[in-house]
Amino acid sequence: MEFAFTPEQEAFRRAVVAFCRREIEPIAARCDERGEYPLHLFPTMGRLGYLGVKFPVEYGGAGEGNVTYAILAEELGRASAGIALGVYVHVALALTAISVFGTPEQKERYLRPGIAGEKIGAWSFAEASAGSDPASIVTRAEKVDGGYRISGTKLFTTNGPFADFVVLTASTLPGQGIKGLSLLIVDRDTPGFTVARRIETMGMRAAQTAELCFDGCVVPREALLGEEHRGAAAAMQTLTLGRITAAAYALGAGRAALEATLAHVTQRQQFGQPVGKFQGVQWMLADMATALEASRLLTYQAAWLADRGLPHIKEASMAKLFATETATRVAGDALQLHGGYGYVMESPIQRLYRDVKLFEIGEGTSQIHRNIIARQLGL
Ligand SMILES: Cc1cc2nc3c(=O)[nH]c(=O)nc-3n(C[C@H](O)[C@H](O)[C@H](O)COP(=O)(O)OP(=O)(O)OC[C@H]3O[C@@H](n4cnc5c(N)ncnc54)[C@H](O)[C@@H]3O)c2cc1C
Repeated sequence: MEFAFTPEQEAFRRAVVAFCRREIEPIAARCDERGEYPLHLFPTMGRLGYLGVKFPVEYGGAGEGNVTYAILAEELGRASAGIALGVYVHVALALTAISVFGTPEQKERYLRPGIAGEKIGAWSFAEASAGSDPASIVTRAEKVDGGYRISGTKLFTTNGPFADFVVLTASTLPGQGIKGLSLLIVDRDTPGFTVARRIETMGMRAAQTAELCFDGCVVPREALLGEEHRGAAAAMQTLTLGRITAAAYALGAGRAALEATLAHVTQRQQFGQPVGKFQGVQWMLADMATALEASRLLTYQAAWLADRGLPHIKEASMAKLFATETATRVAGDALQLHGGYGYVMESPIQRLYRDVKLFEIGEGTSQIHRNIIARQLGL
């Protein structure tokens, strides 16, 4: 068994850490306060090769695997979960789906500029009536001469306010549930496409989530991503890989909470000594560190399996479930150990606390992952 990263992966992590210190950490609080996404990071990350880490070299990627990509995700999550979320839907969902299921033309048109950070993607799956249950999707893609006419409203599309293109799930066979779903790529300038409203959220405020309307958007046949009526399977395959990224983000955010807390309890004095000297506090920190280590093992194991083409559905769900619930618990304990200082708005801990909860909801809720794991156990 091998638990070490390669020297190249260690060097990659050091480079990403330096990038996050320089470009993300200084603006994380401001982006959260103002609800602003730092769009300039897309071309910057594109130039550094970060957006294409796991994509084929022939489209401008680095051809690395999911383990290296998880290193990037962990460090982005540590620097700012909100900013990381925008990168997540672009790379882990929109570009991944196009990389796996796209035609060479679609890859030229979306993957190549997406890797360069010149075009930004979004992933539109959820609707008012369909979150956990894809069979309830009512957005319709009706076949018309030469293509499809799309009608429906998508709720909760992160990057929606500024995305250049959206990978969307729609029904091409109404009444057939998940057997009638297809994936389509819709360009922002398609007539009938509008951003209905931005959705205000309690956390992840740097990321921008919006309700999108598709009012009779006509797209050509070439907009179909993957096979017609096979969109549910393609979406699930994309989301399974995405879950490993979500786990890595949660691991990084949890680490940020632990690191800040270790610094705080060492410096904060009560009863004549640093609060970190109290055994009750030490035990909380020991539990936080242990749970994060278990998150790390589950996350990188799932990425390692995916890289080898081995079954990883159960492991991806276990990593996502455990790492995201751990992040929520660790952020809560971190806030508790900061006392009142953790609760004030200048504290980075309150932001982490608000941000990490979303990891348990997006990409399949914790309950849905327990269902997936149970099914994988044969239940
Ligand atoms: C900030 C934010 C950003 C988002 N970004 C995106 C995005 O970019 N693209 C996108 O497509 N979606 C996005 N989403 C949507 C997100 O993926 C969904 O909110 C999530 O999948 C849950 O769906 P729901 O909110 O409809 O909850 P529901 O499905 O209504 O679930 C409600 C509750 O019931 C539970 N439940 C449901 N079914 C079961 C079951 N079978 N067994 C046990 N419990 C069950 C759930 O676990 C949950 O606790 C975003 C959401 C938020 C808040």
